[in-house]
Amino acid sequence: MTATAIDGNALARKLREGFAGRVAALAAAGHRPGLAVVLVGEDPASQVYVRNKVNACEAAGMLSERITLPADVAPAELLAKVRALNADERIHGILVQLPLPPHIDETAILDAIAPDKDVDGFHPENVGALVQGRARFIPCTPLGVIRMLEEAGVNPAGQEAVIVGRSNIVGKPMALLLIERNATVTVCHSRTRDLALHTRRADILVVAAGRPRMITGDMIKPGAVVIDVGINRGPDGKLCGDVDFESCRAVAALITPVPGGVGPMTITMLLENTIAAAERRAGRVS
Ligand code: NAD
Repeated sequence: MTATAIDGNALARKLREGFAGRVAALAAAGHRPGLAVVLVGEDPASQVYVRNKVNACEAAGMLSERITLPADVAPAELLAKVRALNADERIHGILVQLPLPPHIDETAILDAIAPDKDVDGFHPENVGALVQGRARFIPCTPLGVIRMLEEAGVNPAGQEAVIVGRSNIVGKPMALLLIERNATVTVCHSRTRDLALHTRRADILVVAAGRPRMITGDMIKPGAVVIDVGINRGPDGKLCGDVDFESCRAVAALITPVPGGVGPMTITMLLENTIAAAERRAGRVS
């Protein structure tokens, strides 16, 4: 069997085309969706991520505000900036690019974002709502994975879903979303005793460990759906995922490539969350 690759770029393009009407309607009513992206320091990878987010917003006809602060910014100054954005009527979504420098308490900053502008879905109020099955903002990467499964016609109900990775931004919310869709979910992590024992049982395997090509073809079930969230840069400078694409493609039914798989979906879901925030706000004020 040779798996079909799920094209994240094509799906992202299609979804973004669908946003145009929603953005235009909001703008016409005086509620042009606005996203503020806060970058602290000059980490090159973070600069690229922020530039991509700002460009995607502008291409979608949305307002974007980029706030750059020096790496040695006082935590109180960053906090004051977040509070000013909370009060800014033009801004519907606030994203603080992680990681923050070590002298800043990341949790305190994320907790200060107004829950109704928390388009990353990291605020405890939004996490709690997700746990209870009444989500407001769903973290962008796992939401992007769900959209990819929907597009590919994969219904998780009754399926064995195995997730490798238990981070707050990918693994844990991914598990919640799949439970919500009636999958039987197993979450593996760095202390899992026999990883392959679990991955070989998976009808749907989502890998988010940050370990280059750790999942090989002998670790997956024939006909599985394999979603590779990992983004790693090899010694040759090229990007690769957590899944060994060539050996897994020979066994799986559906697989996502890296690059061009989950990555483009993450920014697309950030736009979707910001548009949804603007629609909710417009509904409240008009
Ligand atoms: P993280 O470092 O916060 O978490 C990694 C998780 O993997 C941990 O729970 C850890 O227990 C688990 N893990 C590590 N080694 C393991 C092993 N050998 N066996 C089993 N589990 C293991 O990482 P994260 O933020 O969740 O990101 C994971 C990967 O996804 C990274 O490569 C990151 O770059 C990528 N990522 C991609 C996107 C995207 O848009 N495509 C978004 C976020 C993260």
